[in-house]
Amino acid sequence: MASSKELFDISKKLIPGGVNSPVRSFSSVGGEPIYIESGKGPIITDVEDKEYIDFCASWGPLILGHAHPEVVNAIKESSEKGITFGTNCPNEPIMAELIVNAIPSIEKVRLTTSGTEATMTALRLARGYTKRNKMVKFEGCYHGHADAFLVNAGSGLLTNSISSSEGIPENAINDTIVVPFNDIESLKEVFNQYKEEIACVIVEPIAGNMGIIKPNDGYLESIREITKDNKSLLIFDEVITGFRLCYGGYQNLCKITPDLTTLGKIIGGGLPIGAIGGRKDIMDFLSPIGNVYQAGTLSGNPVALAAGIQTLEILKDSSIYDKLNIAINVFIDSIKDDILKAGYNYQAIGSMFCIYFQENVPKNLTDMQNCNIDRFNKYFHYLLENGIYCSPSQYETNFISIAHSNTTLEKASSIIRKCLSQI
Ligand SMILES: *Cc1c(COP(=O)(O)O)cnc(C)c1O
Repeated sequence: MASSKELFDISKKLIPGGVNSPVRSFSSVGGEPIYIESGKGPIITDVEDKEYIDFCASWGPLILGHAHPEVVNAIKESSEKGITFGTNCPNEPIMAELIVNAIPSIEKVRLTTSGTEATMTALRLARGYTKRNKMVKFEGCYHGHADAFLVNAGSGLLTNSISSSEGIPENAINDTIVVPFNDIESLKEVFNQYKEEIACVIVEPIAGNMGIIKPNDGYLESIREITKDNKSLLIFDEVITGFRLCYGGYQNLCKITPDLTTLGKIIGGGLPIGAIGGRKDIMDFLSPIGNVYQAGTLSGNPVALAAGIQTLEILKDSSIYDKLNIAINVFIDSIKDDILKAGYNYQAIGSMFCIYFQENVPKNLTDMQNCNIDRFNKYFHYLLENGIYCSPSQYETNFISIAHSNTTLEKASSIIRKCLSQI
């Protein structure tokens, strides 16, 4: 078997940057990326037979760990019966019913092949339903890579936003307004200015793409109130948080009812998926009933749904979430003194955790930018060297799965403590 280095060298000649998703290139942490050959439970093994405790979990889908036997079996059985038909298949209403029953705000759901498609559709649907164009998003929240979302805040709140990628025409982002997370006054100001033009506000109810940032008390409630008062739709992007913190979305826990919700990651059990769901009267604006167009060759794919349905069936046992909470608490308790002593901070919620390489717990993207990236990168490489794979950027969250046993977490904890005392 070729080494990671050899594979990366070949890949760089054939694939832009050698990767099919930019963060995998290790460009933010430096060094060369590893190539993973296999995964089992909490462990991934690279092409050189080196094992790592995995805290990246494929960026979130693997709440059951790698190659969970029942999920693998569901994929096997389903694929033996045919991989795709491009017709309706029996798994579609099964998955739709699971989602509708799990998340009260969702009366109807449309399945897609990625989270990006789900948010893209949510935006189009909100625009079609409200007959308005503007969207408000929060700085540091990630909603996939559709044009309208790839936007940074401009210099002032109401000045034009700046695209965060080349290749995006100004027109595509003119209607995107970016406000800081956890700052309700900014949102109010934007609504004062653009009142009847705002189709929707989209938010990750727990921000999971700038480390982990929790909403302040009452913040999401205020967003709900403002959107309702202004007849704008509220979209919860629960691609990460869906089925991660409880059986359902974070909205089940915070008891807020968004108009639309996007899902992905966990509901596909590790295969490509996305979903958009919400109120019936809004969802029925989608074609073929309504005139908001959306489609997908592999949407509702039977094999992906088999993996997702099996995953959700297992997650229905709510003791799983209790066990994950206990496991992460024990794990964090074992490292938190060392984190604080080293001058850093942390956040853990459900089975997600993040160590911030700064003293404070960030409340928004600007705070997050105070992290000492150089330190994070040293930490990342120390862990990698010593058999832990965490997400290769300070701005990413880490995950544990039900396969992360106490023994695994104790081992990780002792490596992390040693690391914190040395870097
Ligand atoms: C991962 C993610 C997406 C995009 O999903 P893809 O399947 O990668 O297209 C959208 N929103 C959030 C919050 C995500 O974390």
